[in-house]
Amino acid sequence: MVLIVLDHAAGTPRRTAFEGVRAGRRLAEALGVPLAGLVLGDADGAAAAATALAAFVPTVYRAADPALAAGGHEARTRAIVDVARSVGARVVLMAASRSGQAVAPRVALRFGGALLEDVTDVRVEAGAIVAERLTYLSRAVATVRALAEPVVVSVKPGAFAAAEASAAMGAVEDVTIAFEESDRVAQVEPAGRAARDRVALEEADVVVCGGRGLGDADAFEAHVVGLADDLGAAVASTRAVVDAGWRPYAEQVGQTGKSVAPKLYVGLGLSGAVQHLSGMNRSGVIVAVNKDPDAPIFKVADYGVVGDVREVVPALRAALAALD
Ligand SMILES: Cc1cc2nc3c(=O)[nH]c(=O)nc-3n(C[C@H](O)[C@H](O)[C@H](O)COP(=O)(O)OP(=O)(O)OC[C@H]3O[C@@H](n4cnc5c(N)ncnc54)[C@H](O)[C@@H]3O)c2cc1C
Repeated sequence: MVLIVLDHAAGTPRRTAFEGVRAGRRLAEALGVPLAGLVLGDADGAAAAATALAAFVPTVYRAADPALAAGGHEARTRAIVDVARSVGARVVLMAASRSGQAVAPRVALRFGGALLEDVTDVRVEAGAIVAERLTYLSRAVATVRALAEPVVVSVKPGAFAAAEASAAMGAVEDVTIAFEESDRVAQVEPAGRAARDRVALEEADVVVCGGRGLGDADAFEAHVVGLADDLGAAVASTRAVVDAGWRPYAEQVGQTGKSVAPKLYVGLGLSGAVQHLSGMNRSGVIVAVNKDPDAPIFKVADYGVVGDVREVVPALRAALAALD
């Protein structure tokens, strides 16, 4: 079986869940094994997500427990390993989200299986599971072959297109997890102010990213957050901004932050350092505003405006407002 861990936010499936279904279907078909999903969460969240996702996979296993709602890595690991063992999963697939990046190695370790992390493609070649992942600041592609089973695969958000619903509605099966005390050692509090009602950064179609060129936290809020609000976009930051304490680390994009692949990326007052580019160079259309015409970001930008962000952004927002 190929078992996909299907992520959701309070019962609403995340886009990465549908991307996982596409990758999982391909593997299940090539291996000639059944496909199933696993939804973790509290009772309400897991119920809503499982019902929605049953339209995409033949079977959804639903594990509901407060420990899973809290999002602790140990509890999630226990649930995934228990279910994967009981259904005899050959492949366990999950999104390489922040949580997935923490949980996938734990699951692989418990299994003693192979781990293919943050992959951009995955397929079956001569019976073995082979994946591709970006390396060397996303400038090279490494091909990785799993030499043991089960294989734990974490899929880079945005690497696969979202799957379509299946022709037939799947079944939902409840599973009970026998947690141990050690599984409940840590819990993650619900996302705070930075999350607001905004779309998750890794899943956003539009990302507005601000750099040190904004000058200070207030200007960042006014121009970067303001433009993101107008566009219904996620907010991102460079490391310089995070290091300065203007914005939380959760918003950092780049080598030591998140990877994003939106349809539209707007970079404001940022230089385009190679460590930043490696986290956003798979974006569809790249727009940059920088007062320095030689800024490296212009080498990757589809549209560039040479100017002061504090003048260009208000003019852009006024033009957008005039369109409404
Ligand atoms: C190991 C390692 C890992 C790293 N990981 C990351 C990472 O994950 N993400 C990341 O972002 N960085 C990372 N960095 C840091 C990276 O090298 C850069 O220092 C950082 O990206 C620079 O951020 P910035 O573009 O905001 O600032 P700067 O490089 O200082 O650029 C500011 C830009 O704003 C422009 N500007 C100034 N004022 C204005 C204005 N009024 N209007 C318009 N433009 C203006 C300037 O011309 C300049 O181009 C990493 C570095 C290392 C060594």
